[in-house]
Amino acid sequence: MTTRRKFIKQSLLSTGLLIPGSTALAENKLRGRGVKTGNKPLFVSTWDHGLAANEKAWTMLSETGSILDAVEEGVKVTEADLSSRTVGIYGYPDREGIVTLDASIMSGTGDCGSVCFVRQVKHPITLARKVMENTPHVMLAGEGARQFAISEGMPIEEETLHPESEKEYLKWLEEQEYRPIINIENHDTIGMVGLDANGNLAGSCTTSGLAFKMHGRVGDSPIIGAGLYVDNEVGAATATGMGETIIKVCGSFLVVELMRQGRSPQEACEEAVNRLIRKNQENIEDIQAGFIAINKEGEHGAYAVHPGFNFSVRHDKANDLIDSKSEFQ
Ligand code: ASP
Repeated sequence: MTTRRKFIKQSLLSTGLLIPGSTALAENKLRGRGVKTGNKPLFVSTWDHGLAANEKAWTMLSETGSILDAVEEGVKVTEADLSSRTVGIYGYPDREGIVTLDASIMSGTGDCGSVCFVRQVKHPITLARKVMENTPHVMLAGEGARQFAISEGMPIEEETLHPESEKEYLKWLEEQEYRPIINIENHDTIGMVGLDANGNLAGSCTTSGLAFKMHGRVGDSPIIGAGLYVDNEVGAATATGMGETIIKVCGSFLVVELMRQGRSPQEACEEAVNRLIRKNQENIEDIQAGFIAINKEGEHGAYAVHPGFNFSVRHDKANDLIDSKSEFQ
């Protein structure tokens, strides 16, 4: 029976009667890709802060069995990390000296929530989840999001800059040069995508955004489809880097849709980075952006515009930090 099905599928594919997108994962299996190399459960996170986040996510998944709990609790480790200058309330402020935060969370069922331009909330990822679960909305912004946090009983933090962030800000004030450029050495947003043993996916993404951004600026991270996208039918993707360039190509949605059409996570990330480069050619030498992705089979991929991006991969055998490949060398 299996052989016959295989034969029918192969014949239909060779005659072009089947739409490649709808058969992509099956086709990958026929070619022997994915299933053999995949890992379940699996967590992939951006940057080296992903190692600690992955570890927490792994523990949460074993304890609660919930992939959503796992991706929330995982990135909370980074949000609470005093040494993180690019995630959470200890991050770099905007050009007015105010820290504003963006975060999003999404389940493979399509449920999602996000907050943007929010102040004084230590765990914006939890607030994003509360938007998803306790409101009829997807996204709350600014003071509205902060008020919602209060109404949910979340603590409101004092608004003082972390000494290291303040030092950098005071240095920046000397020139006040407004160059919305992500330092390619910077460790930025944490985005995490996870898969449980039953094929359920979830993702989370949280950041203090671009250092010294204009007050009110919102990046890709809280925008569903740009900074994060998850679909149990296919896979999940998240992004880091210059948010404006990622928004322009609906980056994470693009990666997931490319996987739906048959690309492996690696191929999908590469194609999305290439699209992003084509749409941002003018100052591409100053722009860093990268994607990580996983598919339902437990394969992963990552790709960036420039070298310097790394990502963390946790499965049952290891928690590894891996240097991403990039388009430019
Ligand atoms: N993507 C984030 C933003 O544009 C920045 C980052 O990854 O550091 O806000």
